[in-house]
Amino acid sequence: MTLFEKIMNGDLPADFVHQDDQAVAFRDINPAAPVHILIVPRKVIPTTNDITDEDGPLIGHMFAIARDLAKKEGIADDGYRLLFNCNRHGGQEVYHLHLHLLGGRPLGRMVAAA
Ligand code: 5GP
Repeated sequence: MTLFEKIMNGDLPADFVHQDDQAVAFRDINPAAPVHILIVPRKVIPTTNDITDEDGPLIGHMFAIARDLAKKEGIADDGYRLLFNCNRHGGQEVYHLHLHLLGGRPLGRMVAAA
């Protein structure tokens, strides 16, 4: 089971900001910005390489959640960043697809390498 499945099942705690039948969102445990939320589909898709055409509506739903949360968190007008990390060079740590929503301060043109 992935770490994020354990969080979705309630086996591990998390600060949830959204839950529905297709996806959940919770605050990142190690925030890289004042607002750092992870949007996670209930379906386990390991990486962006594993997204199929049939996942299109689900991926769209994740972006809709991000859009709504950005507004709710008060960062929509100033702006924010949405990103997926993929595999080793992308810095992916958890192999269960997740969309990062980052904002609350100027983020620069790109996220610096760790
Ligand atoms: P990735 O590098 O895979 O794109 O991002 C994984 C993210 O998950 C990291 O930003 C990391 O801080 C976050 N994370 C790792 N373990 C936990 C956890 O147990 N709870 C929460 N809320 N976030 C976690």
